[in-house]
Amino acid sequence: MSQDIQGIAASDGIGIAPVYLLTPPDLSYQKRQIDDPTQEYQRVKQAFADSIADLQQIKENAKERLSDKELDVFDAHITILSDPEMLGQIRNEINDLRVNAEEAVSKVTGNFANMLAAMRDNKYMQERATDVRDIAQRTLSHLLGKELPNLAAITEPVIMVAHELTPSDTSQMDPRLIKGIVTDTGGRTSHAAIMSRTLRIPAVVGTNVITEQVRNGQRMVVDGLSGHVIVDPSNTEINAYRQKAAGYSEQSAEWAQLVDAPSVSKDGKRFHITANIGTPDDVNDVIKQGAEGIGLFRSEFLYMGSDHLPTEDEQFEAYRRVIVNMQGKWVVVRTLDIGGDKPLPFLPLPREMNPFLGYRAIRICLDHPEIFKPQLRALIRASQYGPLSIMFPMIATVQELRKAKRIFNDCKEELQAKQPGIGDDIRLGMMIEIPLAAVNAEKMAREVDFFSIGTNDLIQYSFAADRGSDAVSYLYQPLNPAFLNLVRHIILAGHKYDIPVAMCGEMAGDKWALPLLMGMDLDNYSMSSSGVLRTRSMMKHLDTTECRHVVNDAITNCSTSQEVKSLVRNSLNIK
Ligand code: PEP
Ligand code: MG
Repeated sequence: MSQDIQGIAASDGIGIAPVYLLTPPDLSYQKRQIDDPTQEYQRVKQAFADSIADLQQIKENAKERLSDKELDVFDAHITILSDPEMLGQIRNEINDLRVNAEEAVSKVTGNFANMLAAMRDNKYMQERATDVRDIAQRTLSHLLGKELPNLAAITEPVIMVAHELTPSDTSQMDPRLIKGIVTDTGGRTSHAAIMSRTLRIPAVVGTNVITEQVRNGQRMVVDGLSGHVIVDPSNTEINAYRQKAAGYSEQSAEWAQLVDAPSVSKDGKRFHITANIGTPDDVNDVIKQGAEGIGLFRSEFLYMGSDHLPTEDEQFEAYRRVIVNMQGKWVVVRTLDIGGDKPLPFLPLPREMNPFLGYRAIRICLDHPEIFKPQLRALIRASQYGPLSIMFPMIATVQELRKAKRIFNDCKEELQAKQPGIGDDIRLGMMIEIPLAAVNAEKMAREVDFFSIGTNDLIQYSFAADRGSDAVSYLYQPLNPAFLNLVRHIILAGHKYDIPVAMCGEMAGDKWALPLLMGMDLDNYSMSSSGVLRTRSMMKHLDTTECRHVVNDAITNCSTSQEVKSLVRNSLNIK
């Protein structure tokens, strides 16, 4: 009998493949006294050799996808495993104390890692501590006969099932082989959800129970359109889903006709649909999907993927690449949005009870000109290669905004001393993600060239509901009439001061929200590349006058998100 599990539809499409269950193995062991140290040391040598073989295989499999720099990490691990000093100490431990291999490996690698981590003035050596801990896990897994998850070694199509997926998990996966993603945790704005949309993998998140309900290799269907996951589907079910998948590809082919078309409503009103990206490599897909620009470049991924603070030149190169590859289409880069749930390995930050309400994004940048200024200088230099806008995240007050602008202007003046006029064409904007900034939108609008509404955060702060918490995910309500009212207020304030208003949170790509946002005259819709053509196609069938009536009706007469959804469904015949 098949089993149907409901989660949150996070990325469109249908995937059918066997389950790959990502479970961190239990590497606990008993410390034992042993009789034969030679035999025990042999076990260690074998486990080291097996670990080296694993790493070589992982590296080989990842070669096509990862950069040389990313591949270096595997060589660093192999070097540690080949270090005679570490093996010698493990042998001594076994000979002198007559302990089992697991205990000797754990103890010696633990000492090495602690020693490296203590080198406070040597960041390179500190980072090697993490490498030593990683290889200790790998060696222990071989000693205990337990397999470590190795996403880079997947060679057959699978559906990835995990409690949650971290950025390092997704960086190891070959997206061509991952036919679907299903997680216990998360909502539409969790990392797994955003990544699966970027990689165009069907996904269902927030199932709560999936890892408890499935085994490796079981057949599974992931329906990222409806949020259903079918475990052990019958042949009839598989056929039905194959048909649904075929219908979906047909529809996608129809959307593909719109790649070069402008984004216009049925009554001819022009809008813009742009894409959100995390790395310069994402630009290919942006162009392929016909986005009219990049509405959000989450620049923190440049920092998170690095083992040091990226230099001004490294950043310049990344921004220049994006701008050049976008061939004259506009690019909006958001300045560093780090802290909170996104720690940086090389920047120690205070531990906080409520990181989302804590020291993050612009709050850190305003305090750390040695981080903020190189980014702004790199951006100003890159602006010579094409149209560029910069926006500041998490602005709460006018003072913060002015301070950020002052630092930007200082950087520009410094660079203009050598190169007059550089950076003069950059448009400066702010994200509206904090309810107070939304309420204060008129004052804010006088200070910037554009707004971009970050609904992922604006919703979490407006509803006081952590965007990563399953327990309160029911409060992710972009269609709530009170929230719609707040969005309309921001758009009206922007237009009153003649600045365009964009939206770059997930709401911008939500099919139920689209007619409401068009009815409010939102200018720009920025979303995962995978949503661009679907949205453009839908826009073509919507009339803005009708949309305006519907949104006014929703805000005035509806009290709940459900009522708004029914109103949109019934008035505009959206399915
Ligand atoms: C947002 O908050 O809506 C947003 C786009 O930023 P992020 O998801 O990166 O916080
Ligand atoms: Mg945000």
